[in-house]
Amino acid sequence: MNDFEQLNDITAPLLYWYQGAARDLPWRRDPTPYHVWISEIMLQQTRVEAVRGYYARFLAAFPTVAALSEADDDQLNKVWQGLGYYSRARNLKRAAVMLMRDFGGELPADHAALLTLPGVGAYTAGAIGSIAFGLPTPAVDGNVLRVVTRLCANGMDITKQATKDRVTAALAAMYPQTPDEAAMMTQALMELGAVVCVPGGAPHCTECPLASTCLAHAEGRETEFPKKPPRRARTVENRTIFMLRHEGRYAIRRRPEMGLLSGLWEFPGVDEEIGADGVSDILARWGITALSVAPIAPAKHIFTHIEWHMTGYLCETQGTSDAFLWETPKEILERYSVPSAFRAYLRLLDADTADGIASV
Ligand code: SF4
Repeated sequence: MNDFEQLNDITAPLLYWYQGAARDLPWRRDPTPYHVWISEIMLQQTRVEAVRGYYARFLAAFPTVAALSEADDDQLNKVWQGLGYYSRARNLKRAAVMLMRDFGGELPADHAALLTLPGVGAYTAGAIGSIAFGLPTPAVDGNVLRVVTRLCANGMDITKQATKDRVTAALAAMYPQTPDEAAMMTQALMELGAVVCVPGGAPHCTECPLASTCLAHAEGRETEFPKKPPRRARTVENRTIFMLRHEGRYAIRRRPEMGLLSGLWEFPGVDEEIGADGVSDILARWGITALSVAPIAPAKHIFTHIEWHMTGYLCETQGTSDAFLWETPKEILERYSVPSAFRAYLRLLDADTADGIASV
């Protein structure tokens, strides 16, 4: 028996359901190749509701491939600020430059050519190809893997590339060949995974157009799929963050060009937990003397594999140091891309623009 036999019966009920159930999302209203590309990159690792506002803001700043190819890096990071995974923004610009140079400023209607663009993997190429160009190219992400493995009660480990390849091949073999239906199929599978065959608990099988076909549902084993190995524990990194203030201006610096949050701006910090009695030694390394030191409430930020546990201090300083830029809170908030890992400190800056930080 074919492991994915259930897929043979899903097209008609799924497309019919999608036409009545599709959410009204901004990128579905005018699915040009550029719009589909930007939205698909934004939707990687990020929830639909969070993407809505960013999508409009991004298109207002960079309405075309040409505009994106000429984007100022700091402006690009600023527009992306809060979405996280900033390498996505850098790859968008690199790809836009490549599109201008090699493809006449247009996204190519060709799966293999799409795959040559920075930041575009099999999933994104499949999504752009089918949604924007009507190619019969499936887009297999976590949502689709969940739907397919439940439909087929398939116990393959979905974190393995071999599983993605097999699911992609099985879908490609049954994908509708007309452009409109291919475009709809990709979106319908994504939509079903996002709103009906949901992760993290029981799916909404009573609302599912595929319930009569679904093996996991027939066997009452919906929550046994998809299979994946236990999550690796995150590494905890202790950090100390210094909000150094001199005459109303705060010190910021650019992070290294390689590694986590590369090229973005941050408040100075060290990769260890420093007690209040150790602050002056750290500041001395930067040639700075503190007039006052006040602790800031501890903060935590969770990345995919790392957790930052942050201790913080607000220090009024006697002078400045050339090691940093010293800017007003308003300038930092408006012009510099400080990632949301520093959200707790940005909130204090925000308070400072209004009425000064009376206490922390
Ligand atoms: S019947 Fe339930 S488990 Fe099966 S595809 Fe539909 S929502 Fe998912």
